[in-house]
Amino acid sequence: MDDSDFGKEDNRGYWKPNELIRYPGVFVWPPQLVSILGWLPKYLFPWGVFYGGLGTLVWLFLTPPVEQMRTLTLDWIAFVFIRNCTLMVLIVGLQHYWLYIRRAQGTLFKFNRKWPEGKHPGFTFGTQLRDNLFWTFVFGVPIWTAWEVTSLWLYANGMIAQLDPIANPIWLILLWFFVPLLHEFHFFCVHRLIHWPPLYTRFHKVHHRNSNPGPWSGISMHPVEHLLYFSGFLIYWIVPAHPLHFLHYSMMVGLSPAQGHTGFDRVVTKDKSTFHLPYYAHYLHHRLFEVNYSDGTIPLDKWFGSFHDGSEEADLALAERRAKQRKKRKQ
Ligand SMILES: [Zn+2]
Ligand SMILES: [Zn+2]
Repeated sequence: MDDSDFGKEDNRGYWKPNELIRYPGVFVWPPQLVSILGWLPKYLFPWGVFYGGLGTLVWLFLTPPVEQMRTLTLDWIAFVFIRNCTLMVLIVGLQHYWLYIRRAQGTLFKFNRKWPEGKHPGFTFGTQLRDNLFWTFVFGVPIWTAWEVTSLWLYANGMIAQLDPIANPIWLILLWFFVPLLHEFHFFCVHRLIHWPPLYTRFHKVHHRNSNPGPWSGISMHPVEHLLYFSGFLIYWIVPAHPLHFLHYSMMVGLSPAQGHTGFDRVVTKDKSTFHLPYYAHYLHHRLFEVNYSDGTIPLDKWFGSFHDGSEEADLALAERRAKQRKKRKQ
C-alpha cells in the first residue's frame, strides 16, 4: 500500500490528500436533486446509521426504565455514567490501539508523519495521552452524562415536549434524519464562539494543545467548553422529540469526535483497501486554527469566509487574512 496514490507531502512535510475538500451540492440554490440523491447514502452510511443505530440500542437495552428515571437517584445515574465510560473506552480505545499502539499502518495516510510527542510540559501530566485521558474522563464523560441524564429525567417527568412515535411516525423519522445536521450547525456556532480571543485563551486552548491530534483528543476540552459543546441536547428540550433522537445525538456528540481526530486520512483495511475518514478539514483546523470551524455538509465556513479546502490558494488567502488582521491590530 502506497499513500502517494492518494496524496503527497507538502514542502513542510505534512501529508495532504490530492482531493480538495468539497461541500456536497445540498445547500445550494436552486436545489439540485441529483446531488442530494448522490449525497444521501454518504450521509447515512456508515456514520449516520452507526450512531443512530447505537442510540436505538442504548435506548432499548442500556437505559434504565422510564419509571425509575422519574426521580434523580444515584443508582441509575451511575449506570448511565458507567455505560458512557465503557462505550468511550471501547470505541475510542479501539481506534487508539489500532493506529497509535499497534501502529498497524505505520504513518501511512498520517497527516503529520511524526507521532505525538512523548513528553511535553504544555500537557497536563506531561504527555498528550495523559492530558487527553484526564480532560476526557474527569470532565468530558461526567458533563456529557449530566446533559444526557437531565434530558432523560425531564422526558420521564413529561417536562419536555414528548413525541409519540405511533401518532407521529413521519416527524420521528424526519427529526432522526436531521440529528447530524442539527449537530453540525450547533457545533459550528459553539466552536466559532469559543474562538473569540477571551474565551479561546481561557477555555478552548486546552483542546488546541493537540496540534498533532489522536483519537483521545476528540473531547479533550476544558469543562466550560464541554458545557457548551454538549448543549445541543437543548434542541431536544424544545422541539417535540423522543429519546431515540437525543440518544442518537448523545452517541454521536460523545463518541464521533474520536474519528475526527485520528490524524489519519484513511485506515488501511485487511485486504489492502482503504476506508476514508473525511476529516481533513478538522485536522487543518488543529494546524491552522482560524479555518474550518465546522466540517461536513452545511457550507457555514464558506459563507463566513473561514473555509480552507486544503489548496495552496487557500494557504495564500489565509496568510493574507492574517496579515490584514496584524495590520489592523497595529493601527
Ligand atoms: Zn477550535
Ligand atoms: Zn478538534
